[in-house]
Amino acid sequence: MQITAAVVRSQGADFTIEQLELDELRHNEVRVRLVATGICHTDALVRDAVYPTPLPAVLGHEGAGVVEAIGDSVISVAPGDHVVLAAAYCGHCKRCRRGEMAYCENLFAADFGGRRLDGTTALSKDGEAVSSHFFGQSSFATYANVVEESVVKVNPDVPLEHLGPLGCGINTGAGTVLNELKPEIGSSLAVFGAGAVGSAAVMAAKVADCAVVVAIDIHDSRLELARELGATHTINSLTEDVAARLREITGDAGIDYVVDTTARPELLRQAAEAIGVRGTIALVGAAKPGTEVAFEIGASLVKGWTFKTVVQGSSVPQVFIPQLIQLWQEGRFPFEKLVQNYELAQINEGFADSKSGATVKPVIVF
Ligand code: NAD
Ligand code: ZN
Repeated sequence: MQITAAVVRSQGADFTIEQLELDELRHNEVRVRLVATGICHTDALVRDAVYPTPLPAVLGHEGAGVVEAIGDSVISVAPGDHVVLAAAYCGHCKRCRRGEMAYCENLFAADFGGRRLDGTTALSKDGEAVSSHFFGQSSFATYANVVEESVVKVNPDVPLEHLGPLGCGINTGAGTVLNELKPEIGSSLAVFGAGAVGSAAVMAAKVADCAVVVAIDIHDSRLELARELGATHTINSLTEDVAARLREITGDAGIDYVVDTTARPELLRQAAEAIGVRGTIALVGAAKPGTEVAFEIGASLVKGWTFKTVVQGSSVPQVFIPQLIQLWQEGRFPFEKLVQNYELAQINEGFADSKSGATVKPVIVF
């Protein structure tokens, strides 16, 4: 069938809106009519060829829509169901079997390969292959053939146009706090970078009853929003010394948890300085290959602290995304405050507004 999609043709190029051919549904796939798709920083990294998904490609990995048709072996959804699309995983490796699909052994092929796991692509134009199945979906398009593992059935009473960002950015920020760090009630948590992922981490820290929630960014507008979402303190890292301010806020104890979404080595170093005894730093932000960070050993050693990397909030999407929707319905997770809507034709504007800081979470509405 013919679909309309945003295509990246070469490294760093703007998206172009094109008519493409979407091929037959495979036995393990779900055809989804997209209602909305969030724009994530990871799409920009792939557009800019930081990750090597073959171009031309249809990106987009925060889709929400309605099931149109299902393959023969699909059992988790039926036509008409409302779904949120999350990252793909193979479903049969050791990590997947343990419920650790965020760390699937076939993650790179399933999410960044631009092909089905059998090597075919679902998208083409005049016989030329176009990468599909980005994160199992390629949802900057009116329709997508999505692998069943990426599909999360959701409550049809909740407006679908809000839900796309739950598939990646919001899931990542909230899951890092609620699934991975699991902060004790009354503990302190700092979020480096108050973008889409960081703002979700701030809301989750509030849900977890952290007593001190510090948001750090370079945009005062984002820090103001972070306060609205539950941050008790904010730091502008352009004008303030982050480690000194964190010491001032937490006293001698140091900060219990840090979620870093900036992947900036100088900030991670300051996080290591400010982390308290037995504290944990969770790195979530992505950086160019070759990026390194240095930590001081001397005083650091006796703190017994942990540095870990976290993928997709360590969540099982089919379990965690409905939980986030429940929190949203209770008014405890107001992620719609981050969202600004764009039409598909305005997709490049959406990316530019995310980069400039004008919009926290741009969402394409079809
Ligand atoms: P974003 O651009 O919305 O947020 C990043 C924030 O960091 C921005 O608000 C920016 O102003 C802030 N920032 C930049 N430099 C700073 C500095 N020097 N000091 C303080 N703040 C600074 O991006 P996002 O969508 O929230 O994604 C954040 C990162 O997480 C990206 O690198 C993305 O690729 C990555 N990511 C990782 C996963 C995962 O599974 N690990 C999933 C989704 C996104
Ligand atoms: Zn797997």
